[in-house]
Amino acid sequence: MANSWGSLLQDEQQLEELAQQAVDRALAEGVLLRTSQEPCSSDVVSYAPFTLFPSLVPSALLEQAYAVQMDFNLLVDAVSQNAAFLEQTLSSTIKRDTFTARLFDIHKKVLKEGIAQTVFLGLNRSDYMFQRNADGSPALKQIEINTISASFGGLASRTPAVHRHVLNVLSKTKEAAKILSNNPSKGLAMGIAKAWELYGSAKALVLLVAQEKERNIFDQRAIENELLARNIRVIRRRFEDVSEKGSLDQDRKLFVDGQEIAVVYFRDGYMPSQYNLQNWEARLLLERSCAVKCPDIATQLAGTKKVQQELSRVGVLEVLLPGQPEAVARLRATFAGLYSLDMGEEGDQAIAEALAAPSRFVLKPQREGGGNNLYGEEMVQALERLKDSEERASYILMEKIEPEPFGNCLLRPGCPARVVQCISELGIFGVYVRQGKTFVMNKHVGHLLRTKAIEHADGGVAAGVAVLDNPYPV
Ligand code: ADP
Ligand code: MG
Repeated sequence: MANSWGSLLQDEQQLEELAQQAVDRALAEGVLLRTSQEPCSSDVVSYAPFTLFPSLVPSALLEQAYAVQMDFNLLVDAVSQNAAFLEQTLSSTIKRDTFTARLFDIHKKVLKEGIAQTVFLGLNRSDYMFQRNADGSPALKQIEINTISASFGGLASRTPAVHRHVLNVLSKTKEAAKILSNNPSKGLAMGIAKAWELYGSAKALVLLVAQEKERNIFDQRAIENELLARNIRVIRRRFEDVSEKGSLDQDRKLFVDGQEIAVVYFRDGYMPSQYNLQNWEARLLLERSCAVKCPDIATQLAGTKKVQQELSRVGVLEVLLPGQPEAVARLRATFAGLYSLDMGEEGDQAIAEALAAPSRFVLKPQREGGGNNLYGEEMVQALERLKDSEERASYILMEKIEPEPFGNCLLRPGCPARVVQCISELGIFGVYVRQGKTFVMNKHVGHLLRTKAIEHADGGVAAGVAVLDNPYPV
């Protein structure tokens, strides 16, 4: 994609002055993170890293990403309800991946006891990169869908004001007006509020399962504040607190500190390092309860990379979304090449292709949170090591998306403003609520653009690689 800020990026002194104004506006707007030195305290905070300019995104791709979000909501929900599909899809993975195996074990236990939860809430974010088709037209390719702890919906509502400010300082008022307003946290809170209302107990609270060290607290507070404005109370507790103070009554209603919980919203529990024995027990307790979990364990499993890969197999979408050929076509149009590494001929061939052309592939384990995927020489070494072992089934292989780089200036606390070649990743937030078999809500609620320097293959904002951005529609 061409870059319309080209000449602006060359004037170093102007960039430095603009950067100072942008940072001050970001701080004033609340584009904040706690510092890595003090992740448990808000006494000293700094700005979340962001781009000085919004990055150009073809409007058609933005529209396509928004249009397919309701289909992804339906798809994730359909997968979560299809125990046979989850079992079959994850069977080889859970033999070798203990984290997925533990999640799956909780899923099995809940199914065996019978699911007490009747209202289901999905808050997800589907992420994409842009690539050129063979004919030169731009294409939207899904990177992954996040079904647990999808973050930055709060901060993403505050960055448009910063980019409008930068453009207004440059007297580019027409351009400033083109920056889209965005308020994902409001939409996410509306989903939580709907689930809370359907749970049907005016006294019950929302439990936000939080990490002890949380730099991204202001992102979470944006949702909490929206809920409080609707007179819905939120308590923040760690898994450890749930394990010490949580209990179920005979109807499997969940109580924490003696207060009934209507909705459990996880901003923790998506990485192995976030669990010890006590935390796993707390997760099981939460899953057994009739509180609305966001996500419930099956929906978390529906977001694994292994499920993503199986969904791309010929005929699978048609089975999961019967009678919806248009939704199937919209979904499939966003899929990149995804390959199973299960033992057998198909997996052998995928490995041979990746070893023959490593720059065209990414090797992905069943992990979230950035920094886990393998590229290039590292991928080759891993594939050589895994090739003849059943362990390979705990990974999938994915076509590497190659967006066209463009120049932008990345701003981070403590670093000089620097212009670098970048690529962007667009996320769309989706919200759905289902009561029994009935869909009560199915929406898209906003977007997130993250941009990173091309030298980083992997990683998001929380991982310290990407920075917050806004799409400038062209
Ligand atoms: P995680 O669950 O850790 O966020 P992702 O699948 O989103 O895992 O990958 C992390 C990052 O790696 C992405 O944000 C993106 O920058 C990069 N990435 C992942 N898959 C691809 C791909 N197929 N092509 C190019 N880059 C990718
Ligand atoms: Mg990701």
